[in-house]
Amino acid sequence: MLYIVATPIGNLKDISFRAIEVLKNVDLIACEDTRHTRILLDHYGVNVPTTSYFQHNRVTKGEYILGLLKENKNIALVSDAGTPGILDPGYNLINLAIKSNIEITVIPGAAAFVNALVLSGKPAHRFFFEGFLPNRSQARINRLKELAKMDYTVIFYESCHRILKTLEDIQEIFGDKEIVCARELTKKFEEIKRASPKQILEEFQKQKPRGEFVIII
Ligand code: SAM
Repeated sequence: MLYIVATPIGNLKDISFRAIEVLKNVDLIACEDTRHTRILLDHYGVNVPTTSYFQHNRVTKGEYILGLLKENKNIALVSDAGTPGILDPGYNLINLAIKSNIEITVIPGAAAFVNALVLSGKPAHRFFFEGFLPNRSQARINRLKELAKMDYTVIFYESCHRILKTLEDIQEIFGDKEIVCARELTKKFEEIKRASPKQILEEFQKQKPRGEFVIII
């Protein structure tokens, strides 16, 4: 059986009893980054072997893991943070398992966008999860123009490297609309900013933005 196991998005305590129980009892844990996940496993005394499963080895490693599943091994899939399959290669393994009729289940837990959405106070009954915007500036502007036509709350993921540029583009398309920028959720420096893109940009220009971000419009 393949267990899709959600792990914390920062605070190590944000994991379920069932997730720990599953991690302790599987034959192998497939991790996006074994060193990163080791911190969590050591914290909870999980001594199960791990293997890496990430973007660049997903084809060969996917076949290897599928082979083990076909031999009736129990395997847990975890990502660096949050729910596997949401913007990480977990999606590919999940589909390999489905196509091969392997039994799969999910052990629920954190996903950054859900927590940012509820904290934002923006309408959460209809929302659009965009994930990461395109890298190239013109493509990003074009995409933001498309999203501006939508009658939904829109959610993006962003890294500290691109947050300033993205906020500039959001300002260009959305003007002074109040947006929400959730930074480092569940971590020591968790911060929620509710202001116009221009005001948030000014604050980040005074103090260099660090960490991981979810933006809600
Ligand atoms: N699978 C993950 C999930 O369930 O949310 C998402 C993985 S995606 C590759 C990583 C992005 O999630 C980061 O760039 C950031 O935008 C967002 N993210 C992850 N942890 C976060 C946190 N603690 N606070 C804010 N955003 C976070």
